Amino acid sequence: MLLLPGERTIRTAYAVLGAEFRPIGVRGPGVLYLTSQRLAFEAPASRGRVRDYLKGRDTELVVSRSLHEIVNATVRRGRIGRPWLVVHVPNGRVAFDVLEPEAWVGAIAQAKRVFAPPTSEVPTIIERQVVKIRCRYCGSLSNEVDGRCPNCGAAL
Ligand SMILES: [Zn+2]
Repeated sequence: MLLLPGERTIRTAYAVLGAEFRPIGVRGPGVLYLTSQRLAFEAPASRGRVRDYLKGRDTELVVSRSLHEIVNATVRRGRIGRPWLVVHVPNGRVAFDVLEPEAWVGAIAQAKRVFAPPTSEVPTIIERQVVKIRCRYCGSLSNEVDGRCPNCGAAL
């Protein structure tokens, strides 16, 4: 997978994308990536799709969701079979059959905390523009926020 500038890989594994989430012509097995920016799944495309649609590329980025988009990740345990990793996004979810889905849940949560904290936790920097005004009495410049002229004491 082609990484974006500044993006680094945190975790990768072979995974199978749930059948209901696959575009036509894309097979389920591929590679799941967790990076400092996103969760992505890259799969080999079928031969016809390579020729007609992908113009020679043999893999397709089927899923690419920024860490900010990911609401959370959970493990879905059915009555039979292996547990699945389920990644919830605002307009739905995607599910992967991957080894150690609990470890992926932990890694995704940590990546969100480290690389994509909720905006309410980001300190807000309030920049205040200081306006200089000239005193009507003595003509010296002072900050508007001062309220009084530092030179002669007149109200501004
Ligand atoms: Zn003054």
